Amino acid sequence: MGRSVLVTGGNRGIGRAIALSFAEAGDRVAVTHRSGTPPQGVLGVPCDVTDTDQVDRAFQRVEEEHGPVEVLVANAGITRDKLLAVMRDDDFSSVYDTNVGGAFRVSRRALYPMMRARNGRIVLISSVSGMLGSAGQTNYAASKAAIIGFARSLAREVASRNITVNVVAPGIIDTDMTAAIPESRQKEMRGAVPLGRSGTADEVARVVRFVAGPDAGYVTGAVIPVDGGLGMGH
Ligand code: NDP
Repeated sequence: MGRSVLVTGGNRGIGRAIALSFAEAGDRVAVTHRSGTPPQGVLGVPCDVTDTDQVDRAFQRVEEEHGPVEVLVANAGITRDKLLAVMRDDDFSSVYDTNVGGAFRVSRRALYPMMRARNGRIVLISSVSGMLGSAGQTNYAASKAAIIGFARSLAREVASRNITVNVVAPGIIDTDMTAAIPESRQKEMRGAVPLGRSGTADEVARVVRFVAGPDAGYVTGAVIPVDGGLGMGH
């Protein structure tokens, strides 16, 4: 029967791989999607994570179909890379509101049913940029660093209810997000990775599944890098 799992931004990239990984393990998986289509065999619920009402409706739908969410993966995220000197207010606020505001809205909505059940797993997707910094990504890095403070505070709030909150911090992973970076820059970035290559969405998904699973019951407030050594454990 498995658990009720919800992954935000599960129509493509890392979120899609995470959703499929849980589905393969036999869980009842739902994804939020703003555009595109959900993976086969997975319940798709439309939702923009910057909108509290849409988040609420998405959870209601998942609760009707699969029961209360037992595993939440806050994965939806965007970049709007620019040097700070030319960054507009909207470049900053949209990235921050999607990446941190989105994680806040979905975690808050997931919490009461998890607290009642005295059981839950929340996994938030950060980035190596949040810890190492990345030129052209002040907005994105700020949002990804904020996710860590958010997660660790929440981990302390809900630990007594048997809810764990952890962060997975990917490095350079082959998805649409990295494809948008010029090839020469991508090459340079890969060159800085001790393992000498970019990662796959599946490699991130396997770590997310582990930290949301029974073998990680005593892990909370952790930041787990999946970055080929780029951040050397941060
Ligand atoms: P993609 O750009 O491939 O996918 C992003 C996903 O987030 C899409 O499903 C997108 O939906 C969704 N999304 C974006 N904005 C919203 C919103 N407002 N409401 C709902 N969904 C939204 O990115 P990745 O798969 O590469 O990234 C996934 C996560 O991993 C992100 O948080 C990213 O920051 C993080 N990450 C990625 C790395 C990489 O190298 N790829 C490295 C480190 C972290 P839609 O299709 O509708 O746009």
